[in-house]
Amino acid sequence: MAKQQDPAATPLMRQYLTAKEKHKDALLFFRLGDFYELFFEDAVIAARALELTLTSRNKGAEDEIPMAGVPYHAAATYIQRLLDQGFKVAICEQMADPSKVKGIVPREVVRVVTPAIVYDDATIDARTNLYLVAVEEGAGRFGIAALDVSTGELSACEAADRDGALGELVRLDARELLVGPGAEAVAEQFAAVRPRAVVRKQAAALEEAAAMATLDAILGAGEAGASGAPISALRAAARCLDVARECEAGQKPPVARLEVYGLDETLLLDDATQSHLELVRTMDGDTRGSLLAQIDETKTGPGARLLRRRLLSPLTHVSEIRRRHDAVELFVTQPGLRAEVRSLFGRVSDIERLAMKLAVGRASPRDLVALGRSLEALPAVAHALESCPDLSAREALGIAPGAPWLDVCADLCDELVRAIDPDAPVRASDGGVIRAGYDLALDEVRTLARDGQRLIVELETRLREEVQIPSLKLRFTRVFGWYVEVTRSHTSKAPKTWRRKQTVANAERFTCDELDELADKLAHAEDRCMARETELLNGVLRSLVAHVERLRAVAGRLAEWDVASALAEVAHRNDYARPVVDDSLRLVIEDGRHPVVERLAAAGRFVPNDVALDATAERLWLLTGPNMAGKSTLMRQVALIVILAQAGSFVPARRAEVGIVDRVLTRVGASDNLAKGDSTFMVEMKETANVLRRATRRSLVVLDEIGRGTSTYDGLSIAWAVAEHLHDVIGCRAMFATHYHELTELCTTRSGSENFSVSAREHEGTLIFLHKLQRGAASRSYGVACARLAGIPEIVLARARTLLSDLERGAPLPSGAPASLRRRDRAARPQLDLFGSGPDRAAMTPEQKTAHDIAEALRSLDTDRLTPLEALQLVATWKKQV
Ligand code: ADP
Repeated sequence: MAKQQDPAATPLMRQYLTAKEKHKDALLFFRLGDFYELFFEDAVIAARALELTLTSRNKGAEDEIPMAGVPYHAAATYIQRLLDQGFKVAICEQMADPSKVKGIVPREVVRVVTPAIVYDDATIDARTNLYLVAVEEGAGRFGIAALDVSTGELSACEAADRDGALGELVRLDARELLVGPGAEAVAEQFAAVRPRAVVRKQAAALEEAAAMATLDAILGAGEAGASGAPISALRAAARCLDVARECEAGQKPPVARLEVYGLDETLLLDDATQSHLELVRTMDGDTRGSLLAQIDETKTGPGARLLRRRLLSPLTHVSEIRRRHDAVELFVTQPGLRAEVRSLFGRVSDIERLAMKLAVGRASPRDLVALGRSLEALPAVAHALESCPDLSAREALGIAPGAPWLDVCADLCDELVRAIDPDAPVRASDGGVIRAGYDLALDEVRTLARDGQRLIVELETRLREEVQIPSLKLRFTRVFGWYVEVTRSHTSKAPKTWRRKQTVANAERFTCDELDELADKLAHAEDRCMARETELLNGVLRSLVAHVERLRAVAGRLAEWDVASALAEVAHRNDYARPVVDDSLRLVIEDGRHPVVERLAAAGRFVPNDVALDATAERLWLLTGPNMAGKSTLMRQVALIVILAQAGSFVPARRAEVGIVDRVLTRVGASDNLAKGDSTFMVEMKETANVLRRATRRSLVVLDEIGRGTSTYDGLSIAWAVAEHLHDVIGCRAMFATHYHELTELCTTRSGSENFSVSAREHEGTLIFLHKLQRGAASRSYGVACARLAGIPEIVLARARTLLSDLERGAPLPSGAPASLRRRDRAARPQLDLFGSGPDRAAMTPEQKTAHDIAEALRSLDTDRLTPLEALQLVATWKKQV
């Protein structure tokens, strides 16, 4: 650090420190001429984060101050890089033209940008929402609100518990999370799952009265109160709005509505399930290879964002789901219409974000051109839809009878097309924004200005001839205005009446009366041009701002149709079928496929499978089969088909019947929590506990290889108890893949459970995976075949085969066999007794008694209420007993 005596020694520094005082948690970008400068600690941080050179103001002096800067025209990229690293940036601008102010230029912080409240929307992903999310605790429940300032959407809900809150935060994929007092634990869990998110703890609780005041001020008095939202949700919404308002120097954020939703209206996907099923990104974080990437054929940003939201919160309402299917079906059955609207959507820009830019006064001339072009495509969209006039089509697309298909915004389009030059520059200050012919007065001053330019050219030719310097040029710079430039070798020819203005490397710059007069005229004409143009542009912007809500409504409509036609395209290309959705507890899939794996498999090589589960009858499927047979693919595909169906899409199957599912709960494969220090077993148990705690009769549960992370007996016992609990207590539709063949015995005592296996065939010593599902448990012998595949020597394999067939016949293991195997053998016999009914305790060996006691203890356990820790302790106790 510098050895400063008084950092506020100069007026400029005093101004800086005043601004910084109000934005201690942000890096202050302080505008000084053509640069944004950072000072003190901010300079050190920014220099490191942006790889800038750290210099200093008053170098060498006692009050030396660390300093780093970026050119203002390149600031957007630097700011974005800081936001990406989680910083907050306050932008302090010069509030007057320095050339017109005496003394120090006034400066003010005009905006604060954060990772979720961005500076330049060119740098954000068009296909995802960018949410600022707040979570507020209230009486043990959690209010959650999400604000996307780039689209003006604000929504809120309440989660009943921590798991629910975590699932919702993950679904929203909060970029920045504001954490109210009491919600710290949820925030920590969220940060562990989404390490890139910026988590900001809020020191003070937000009182109800203050929250309502914010909501009333922004949404209109009484609006939020009338929404019926729980108070914790309202407090979260107010927290988001407060922050957004602070960021815009107190200006009201352009949010018109608070959308309140209940978590029970959607199919709940907890955080583990969202990642296990690779809905929007794969386990390694890539978006490619996810389900979304597979089905996202949308053409517009709003369409892509809507599809993503729908996929992560599928519906539970039958009629609404059917309406979405109707819309997809309309576009499936009308390929001509589909092709036409899709090609038109390809010409439409992000009207939703353009409308928002208009609302906050940040629309550039280019944005207006893009908006005009988009609106120009609307009549053709409406016209295409008119070709399907029947009532059901209207209903499917959400159009009331008699209402127009689409508000084509002809008035706005007309105004934009007439007013804005199609070649308008990015910045209004560059001029040339208003189209010729729009305004007579502007056309006149433009002619004057153009005339002036012609006169300049004429003067240049004349001067060249008069002074006999062919290389003479009339030039212009912003700082020096117009001048005559003469190369060094000709300067002696310059007439006496010329006045020297500047000397540069190889030339002299002069001015003369004639040029001054002309330059004056020109400047005057150009000033008038600019003034008139600004006036006209402001008029156009004002008239558009009044229609922002209309534009947003149009954007919303188009997004829905974009999604429906895109899903129809996917259904058509990949041969998806419309699922039948009802309120039953059935799940029937004929020739179902995994939407992502089938695309990766060679054409025609993916093996479709049938699945039929019914919570009132056969509800628990125990899946066995060798590794790599396709168990996990099958289970995931079932879950994905349910999610797709309830999100409103067609599904990869020949036929599907989906009785509404309220939650999809999974425990599949290795988890990324592994890296964070939890043991495999602990992660498994936590996830399993979560599944058991949250599943209802209407849920779909998918469990893969429970109990793998511990010794055989612990694992089997837990797997068995979990399967029983699912079958007896929860009674939901469930699929359970296991490598414990003993577990297949469950079906003998539980009528609602059934064994299935994914087949493989041994052929000339190698294993051929048929991927075909069949009734009945798998044969045990695949393990040995697999071992051969892996290169285990033949002599070892032969021995393994002998041991296996002995085991299967029930013969005791040879004394040379490993102790663990022998112990397993001793207990393997009473296997059925162990979990069966009414064994005679008196006749038992001590080992059998122990096993029996454990089984009894397991049976009486309420796994619903058991915490993972208690489970672990129990397992440890049992382990000591055996
Ligand atoms: P398991 O869970 O039984 O170990 P997986 O479900 O991981 O097996 O499947 C292993 C591989 O087999 C997958 O990566 C996929 O390539 C292939 N596969 C799975 N199911 C099928 C199928 N139905 N048709 C064709 N290939 C499949």
